[in-house]
Amino acid sequence: MLFGRKNKNPIKIADKGVVEWKYATCGYCSTGCSIEVGIDKKGEAVASRGVADADVNRGKLCIKGIYEHELFRKTRGRGNKPLIRENRWDEFQETNWDTALSKTADEIKRIQQQYGRDAFSIVSTGQIMTEEFYTLGKLARGVIGTNNYDGNTTLCMSSAVSGYKRSFGSDGPPGCYEDFEHTECLLAFGSNLPEQHPIIYWRLMDVREKHNFPLIVIDPRVTMFAQQADMHLAINPGTDLVLLNALAHVILAEKLHKPEYIEAYTQGYQEFAELVAQYDPVTASKICGIDEDTIRNVARVFAKAGAAMSIWTMGINQSTHGSDGVAAINNLHLITGNLGKPGAASLSITGQCNAMGTREWSSCSGLPGYRSLENEQDRKEISEFWGVDPEFFPKERGMFMTDILPAIETGEVKGLWLIATNPMTSMANTARIRKTLEKLEFLVVQDAYQDVETNQYSHVFLPAAIWAEKEGCFTNTERRVNIIRNVCEPYGESKTDLWIFNQMAKQFERGQNVIFPESAEGVFEELKTLSKGRMLDYSGMSYEKIEQSRGIQWPCNEEQSPQGTQRLYTDGVFQTASGKANLLALPFIDNNERPDKDYPFWLNTGRVVEHFHTRTRTGKVANGNKFSPTPYMEMNPDAAAELNIQHGTYARLSSRRGDAIVMVQLTQRVAKDTVFVPFHFHECVNRLALGLLDPHSRQPAYKQSAVHIERIENQQDAAQKNAMARSY
Ligand code: SF4
Repeated sequence: MLFGRKNKNPIKIADKGVVEWKYATCGYCSTGCSIEVGIDKKGEAVASRGVADADVNRGKLCIKGIYEHELFRKTRGRGNKPLIRENRWDEFQETNWDTALSKTADEIKRIQQQYGRDAFSIVSTGQIMTEEFYTLGKLARGVIGTNNYDGNTTLCMSSAVSGYKRSFGSDGPPGCYEDFEHTECLLAFGSNLPEQHPIIYWRLMDVREKHNFPLIVIDPRVTMFAQQADMHLAINPGTDLVLLNALAHVILAEKLHKPEYIEAYTQGYQEFAELVAQYDPVTASKICGIDEDTIRNVARVFAKAGAAMSIWTMGINQSTHGSDGVAAINNLHLITGNLGKPGAASLSITGQCNAMGTREWSSCSGLPGYRSLENEQDRKEISEFWGVDPEFFPKERGMFMTDILPAIETGEVKGLWLIATNPMTSMANTARIRKTLEKLEFLVVQDAYQDVETNQYSHVFLPAAIWAEKEGCFTNTERRVNIIRNVCEPYGESKTDLWIFNQMAKQFERGQNVIFPESAEGVFEELKTLSKGRMLDYSGMSYEKIEQSRGIQWPCNEEQSPQGTQRLYTDGVFQTASGKANLLALPFIDNNERPDKDYPFWLNTGRVVEHFHTRTRTGKVANGNKFSPTPYMEMNPDAAAELNIQHGTYARLSSRRGDAIVMVQLTQRVAKDTVFVPFHFHECVNRLALGLLDPHSRQPAYKQSAVHIERIENQQDAAQKNAMARSY
C-alpha cells in the first residue's frame, strides 16, 4: 500500500501477508483492549491491530499492544520442555511432562506429610485466564489443601481490594470508562495514566476536549499526566491520607456534603467526622507540603461538581497505608453522594491484564465468586459443588504472598509453586528474597519463560503457553469480561496453564474425586453456574456473546442485565450486613523510612510505557527496548550539581538494603530531595526498596525509601554493571 507524495519517495506500508485476523484481548495491562492478531498463510502471527468496534479501545493500541504478535515469534528464553534437577546448583536436565508432574506432586505430598499441609505454598499471578484461576483455586483449596495460597496481585492491587471491602463490603470497582463522559471533576491519585494505561488516558483526554472538566492530579512527581492537569498537587511522598482527610474536613466544615445520602446509605459518620475534624487544612498543608488554600479549593471543586470521579493506581496502593488511602477516597465519594450515577465513581485502575479475574475466581483470598472462607454458608456451597468435605477448607484465609516469603525464612513454609510470577525482580529487598528462595526444599516455577530470574532457584520448571496460545477470559478494570481466542499453538512442548493444573490434579488421590473440566469453555460454564444471583453474576454471558459484544461488564444475567452493567451501587445498597457503606475514621500513621543525613533522598518508583512489569516479555520486544533500553534515574539538576553528577552519566544509588547503578537523567520533574527510577529492571530498584507492609492489605510500600547517591568515577565499569539490569 502506498501513501502520499505521489511518485516521490512514497511511504510504503509493509504487506505482512495476513490471511486471517483472530480476536483476542491484550495480555499486558488491565485496560482490556480488544486486539486482533494477523496470521499469515504459514499460520504465524505477523501483525496486531486494535478492534475498531470495541468500546474499550475503539481501534487503538499502545506501543506494547501494537507489537504484541512479536512475542509469538520471539522464542528466546521461552520454555520448550519441562526441566528438572536435584539441587538448585546442578544443571537442569530436560524431562518429559509425566516425570515433571509426578516429581512435583511427590514433593508436595512429602512436604505436606512431613511438615503439615500449609508448609507447601502456591503463589500465582494476574496474567493467566479466569478459567485457569478458577481451576487453580479448585486444585489448591479442594485437592492439595494449602491455605498459604496467594497471587502476586498482593504487590499491586491488594490495597484496592482491601479498601473496597472495608468501605463497601465487597471488592469490585464501581465505575467504568464511560464515566469520563459524564464527570464534572476528576481526581487522579498516584497515577501516571499516559505511561501506565495509555488507552484509558486517550479515552479521558478525548472526552476532555469535548467538555473541559477540571482534572486534578495528585502526585509527588511532575508526571506526564500532571503536566496535562488543571491543578497538580505535588504532595510530599506518603502523605496522601492526610490530604484525603483534609479534603473531607473542608467538605464537612463548609457544609458541602450530602446529608441525605450519608443518612440513607452510610454508617459510621460520627466517628469519621470526629477524626477528620483533626485534619484542618493548615495542619495538613505542613505535612503534605502544599498550601492550605489549594486543599480548600480542591475540596470545593470536588464537592460542588454535579458528578465527581476519582481514579488511582500504585501511588495509593503501594503504601503502608494503601488500604486506608483507598477507603479515604471512598469516604470522599460517600459524603458527597458520588457513587452509582454516571460520572461519579471511585475507580481503581488495575495493573495486570487479569488481576480482576484472580480477585473474582482464583480462591486466593477465599472461595470462588467473592465467597469467603470465614463464611460457613460459602464453605458449604463450594464444598457441595466441588464434592469436597467442607472441613477440608480452612476457616480463615492464610498468608499473603508478602508473608509467605518471610515464612520461608523462618522455616514455616518449605515448598513453593510459583505461577507466572517473578519475585526475584518484583519483590522489595532482592538480597533478602535470594536468601529466602535458597532456603526452600522444593521450588517449582511454572512460566512461559525459562529465563525468568526466579527460575535460577527452582528444582522443576514447567513451561507454560503464553496469552493467545490458549483460550479463555480476562476481566478488565471496569469489570468487563473479554475473550482471548486461541491464536497460535503453544510453543514447543509448552502447555496451557489449564492443562497443567488439570494434570496435576490427577496426581492426587483427592483429585480423582473432583471434576475438572478439560476445556476452558467447560470451566467457564461451571463458574457461570456458581456466579448466578451473586454480585459478579456471569450467568448471562457466553463465549460467543462476549466476542460479539467485545466484552461484557458484570453483573450480567439473562433476565435483568443481558447486556451487562456499567455501574455498581446505583440503588445505594452495599454488600455489608446492613446494606450501608462504611464511612471509616482513618488516622494517619507515618511509619515510612524517611530521608536522613546518611540517605538524604526519597526514592520513588514507577513504570515506563514501553515495558511491562519485570520485562519477562517486553524485554524481548525490539521496539520497546529501543525506546527504553536502560535503567535510569530522574534527578533534579540542582541536586545533581551539588554532587557533581552530569546528565547521561552513571551514578550509584544505595539504601540500607543494597545498591544499584543507573543512568542519570536531569529533569525538573522531580523535587530536589527526590529521585525516580522505573521498577522494571532486574538487579535495580528493588534491591533498594524497603517494602514495609500495609497492615490490612499486606501490600508493600515500594515508593517511599531513603537512598544515598554518589557520582561514579569509573564510568565504563558502571556502564557494564548497568547492563546487568537489562540483560535480556
Ligand atoms: Fe494492551 Fe494496556 Fe496497551 Fe491496551 S493499553 S494495548 S491493554 S498494554
